[in-house]
Amino acid sequence: MFKTILVPIDMAHVAEGKAIIDLAHQQAAKGAKIILLNVVEEIPTWAASAIPADIIDRTKQTSREELEALARAGGADVEARIRTGHPYNTILDEAKSSGADLIIIQSHRPGLQDYLLGSTAAKVVRHATCSVLVVR
Ligand code: ADP
Repeated sequence: MFKTILVPIDMAHVAEGKAIIDLAHQQAAKGAKIILLNVVEEIPTWAASAIPADIIDRTKQTSREELEALARAGGADVEARIRTGHPYNTILDEAKSSGADLIIIQSHRPGLQDYLLGSTAAKVVRHATCSVLVVR
């Protein structure tokens, strides 16, 4: 059983979030906290001038609203966090700063059956210092 469970959510696949939260609840000790994390990817400086200035803010706002709705549906022990950065670095950083003892991550985008592990999942499995549960 785990006390702080980090669940990285790619907003393109938010629909699968509920099933992952159910799984997190099965792994949770009494009084545990479940943190949903979405990482909004930074736009490289060379591309930034071609993109409307408010697009990152709007993307973050939409992600926040969807993630918060998912957290509310998950229960009082589930909270939503949005951060900006590279997904795998930021997931590992959040795991450290929140003191997570378990990360639950999906193995890859649905439909990519040829891959055992997507690139973000693979890096998280390799570099995390806590347990990682990979959902296939
Ligand atoms: P693929 O390469 O098939 O997209 P990934 O390894 O990138 O597979 O993604 C697998 C999992 O990694 C996602 O289901 C999610 O748990 C996590 N992940 C990927 N991108 C993000 C992101 N931007 N924010 C939070 N979690 C993410």
